[in-house]
Amino acid sequence: MKIFVVNCGSSSIKYQLIDMKNESVIAKGLIERIGMKGSMLTHTTVGKDKVKLPSAIPDHVDGIKKILAALVNEKYGALTSLSEIDAVGHRVVHGGEKYSASVLIDAKVLRTVDKLSEMAPLHNPPNIAGIKACKKLMPKVPQVAVFDTAFHQTMPPVAYMYGLKYDEYKKSGIRRYGFHGSSHRYVSAYAAKMLKKPASKLRIITCHLGNGSSIAAVYKGKSIDTSMGFTPLAGLIMGTRCGDIDPAVVPVLMAKKKLDPAAMDKYMNKECGVLGVSGVSSDFRDLETAAAKGNARAQLALDMFCYQVKKYIGAYAAVMDGVDAIVFTAGVGENDIGTRAKICEGLDYLGVKLDKKRNNVRGEATEISSAKSKVKVLLIPTNEELVIARDTDKICKGLKKK
Ligand code: ADP
Repeated sequence: MKIFVVNCGSSSIKYQLIDMKNESVIAKGLIERIGMKGSMLTHTTVGKDKVKLPSAIPDHVDGIKKILAALVNEKYGALTSLSEIDAVGHRVVHGGEKYSASVLIDAKVLRTVDKLSEMAPLHNPPNIAGIKACKKLMPKVPQVAVFDTAFHQTMPPVAYMYGLKYDEYKKSGIRRYGFHGSSHRYVSAYAAKMLKKPASKLRIITCHLGNGSSIAAVYKGKSIDTSMGFTPLAGLIMGTRCGDIDPAVVPVLMAKKKLDPAAMDKYMNKECGVLGVSGVSSDFRDLETAAAKGNARAQLALDMFCYQVKKYIGAYAAVMDGVDAIVFTAGVGENDIGTRAKICEGLDYLGVKLDKKRNNVRGEATEISSAKSKVKVLLIPTNEELVIARDTDKICKGLKKK
C-alpha cells in the first residue's frame, strides 16, 4: 500500500509518499508561499536529485495538482501512474472532543472538521482545503484524518478544565485540548519499545521541543496532561509564541498597543517567544551563537526556555507519582545538546543523571542518561508522517476487508 501523507498549512503543503511494505519514504517535498509571489514546489524522489519548481500556485487545489504532477513526472517522479496511490492521510490540527482517534473522511466528518474551525481558525481551514483538493483530484481514493488533538483526549477533566465559568466549557468547548498528539504518541510508544517494557507499566514525560513546543505526561500509555491548551499558544515559551502569561496582560496590552483581537492573537503567536525576548531570532542556533558572543537577552531567552521545560518535568513527575523516562524530540530536542544538558541539570532529586558523552549526539534514537540514572533519558526522533501513514493504512485495510 502506498500512502500520500499531506500536511496543509495556510500557505504551505508538506507531503510524503510512503510505501507501507517497509514503511519507507519514496518521495517528499514542500510547497511554500501559496497565493503569494515566489511560490515554489521543492520535490525529492528518494534516489534522485531534488528539484525546485517555481510557478504561480494560487490555492491548495493547484498546489496538490502540482505535487501529483511531480509524483508522476518521468524525470524526477516516483510513480508511473497516480492509480498507485492507495490512500491519502491528512494531518488535521483540531479534532475537538469529537475525535479521539483517526477517522475515514466522509461528508459528515468534513462538516464536523469545518465546524471545529471555530476553535482553530488558523489551522483547520487549510487542512480542509487540502482534503477538498485531494477529493477533487482523486475522488475514488480513500482519505483519512489524523488529529493533533486526538492523543490527548484521554486527559481527565481535572487536567483539561480551565478556571472559567463552567458555561464556557459547556457552550463553547473552551478547555485544554493539547496538540502535537501524533508526536507524543509516537515517541512514547517508541520509548516503551526501547525500554522493553509494556507502555501500561510506564510513566513517561515527552518533550516535543521545536519551533512550537509542548510537553506531555504519558501515564500507562495515555496522555493525562499536556502543556498546550485550547490553542497551541499555551504552555512553554516557543520560537515566536509567548506561551503561558498572566491572562490579565492581554486586555492591558490590547488597550496600550491599540490592537483588536486578531492583531493581539497575531502578536502573541508571531512576535513573542524567544524571538521577542531576545530580539535576535526564533532559531535556537542563532540564539546560541548570539549568547556565546555575550548577548544577554539571547542568553535570557535560552535560560527561560530551559527553566520552563524543567518546571513542567517537575510538575508532571508530581502528577504521575514519579517518572520512568524523559523523552526529547523535535528540532531542538533532537539536535540541541546544550539545551538538553541544561534542562536535565539539577534534576538529581528526581533520579535524572545525564551522561555527557552519550548526550553528545543528534537525531538518532538512543539513551542519553548514565547507566546509574534511575530515570531513563531518551532521544527519539519524531515521525508524525509515519503515524499518519500507519493510521491511514490500518483504516483503509479495514475497508478492503468489508
Ligand atoms: P516545527 O515546530 O516547525 O516542526 P522543528 O521541530 O523542525 O520545528 O524545529 C525547528 C527548530 O529546531 C529550529 O527553529 C531550531 O530552533 C531548532 N534546531 C534545529 N537544529 C538545531 C541544532 N542543531 N541546534 C539547535 N537547535 C536546532
